[in-house]
Order: sequence, then structure tokens, then C-alpha cells
Amino acid sequence: MPSPTAARVGPVRAHSRDGFRIFIDFDNTITIGDVLDGVIEKFAVGDRWRELEIEWEAGKIGARDCLDGQLRSLRAEWPELTRHLDAVQLDPGFSALLTLARREQIDLTILSDNFDLLLGYILQRRGLGDVAFFGNHLERAADRFLPSFPFSNPDCPGCAHCKKTHFLPPNDDPRHVVYIGDGRSDLCPARHADIVFAKAGLLKQLRAEQVACHAFDGLADVARVLEKIFHESQL
Ligand SMILES: [Mg+2]
Ligand SMILES: [Zn+2]
Repeated sequence: MPSPTAARVGPVRAHSRDGFRIFIDFDNTITIGDVLDGVIEKFAVGDRWRELEIEWEAGKIGARDCLDGQLRSLRAEWPELTRHLDAVQLDPGFSALLTLARREQIDLTILSDNFDLLLGYILQRRGLGDVAFFGNHLERAADRFLPSFPFSNPDCPGCAHCKKTHFLPPNDDPRHVVYIGDGRSDLCPARHADIVFAKAGLLKQLRAEQVACHAFDGLADVARVLEKIFHESQL
């Protein structure tokens, strides 16, 4: 016979803080503009990086091969690179989104095709060192950089960091996945998320594929809509 406590499990489990988790892209979603493109344009030497970009845009190579070659073309001393990263601007609505996630006790994780060395530096400098993130990996040796791709997926050759692997099975977390992004690396996870916020190229592509999504301009919009969704789920 169920105890009175067991009978209350249903409504408790339906509370929003148990029901959602947020995954968010970094470049041009949390930041104003694409940080990694800016680093490559400023610090890559030679023309190989441009050829790779053209091959990737034409669909001849995947993001992993493109980024691998581009990051190996970089030449930058650390102080020069960090000066550049210090000028990166964040969407002011990101703090509203973080505040909402913290208040509702909903996990928020950045999933990026950028690199841990750069992402970690930017977040630390903004006092956001406690925000969870996964990105590609970058080692630095003097003025050179060695990329690697710990989250590439053999089943998904178009992705460098296959972001959906953080929430698809065998990960059997029952919480609804909220995904927020703007670009090509977000297409793969957005096709598998429960609630999608999209802008720019991602929005265009999802509309072409008739994938349901919320259009957004800035993260303040996203925070407002999510707050409504979370509260409606508690009714
Ligand atoms: Mg992006
Ligand atoms: Zn993928």
C-alpha cells in the first residue's frame, strides 16, 4: 500500500527545477559576434585558413578538419591574444538568463565549438568562472596552438564538437532539454532538443526544415520566454 509520502511524489517531480536543463552556444549567442572567427582572422598566418573556410562552407570538409587546420595556423603570444579576448563583448541579457537559471535551480551548460583555453579565459575574466562549459581542447606552446577534439562523434562527421552527445542517450536524464544557439554547429543539437531558441543561420535552417523553435534577438528575450515556460510548467 503506498504511503502518503509516496503519493506526493508525482507533483513534486513535476516541479520545473527537476524538469529542465539549459544548453547554450557561446560564439555569437553569449558573445556579440563570433570570437573564434575574430581570433582566426586576426592571428592566423598564410592563406591556408581561408582555403579551409571556403572548403568548409562548400561542405567539402567537416568542421573538425577546418578548425584543426585553422588553429594550427595561429601565431600569437599569450598577452597579445588575451588583450584581444578582453575586448570581447557579452550579450547583456546573459546575466538575466544566469540569474533565472540559478533562481530556478536549473543547470546551465555552455556547449561551444570554440576552445577551452579561450573560453575558460573569457569566463574567468568576467567573473563567470563557475559557469559549466564543454568546448574543443587547445594546448599552447610559445606562440603556437595544438587543437584536439574530445567531443567529436564518428557518427556525426559534420561536427567538430558534437554537442548533442551531452544530452542524448546513453545519457538517460529525464529533464527537458532547452537549447539556445545561432549557427551551423547548433543544428545537430537543436534537432534533438525539446525547446529551441534560434537566431541567424540556425533560425533560417530550422525554419527550412520545419523544426519548431522560438526566434530570438538577444538573451534577455530568451530569459523572459523561459521564465514563462518554467512557471507554466508549475501550474
Ligand atoms: Mg555560435
Ligand atoms: Zn553532431
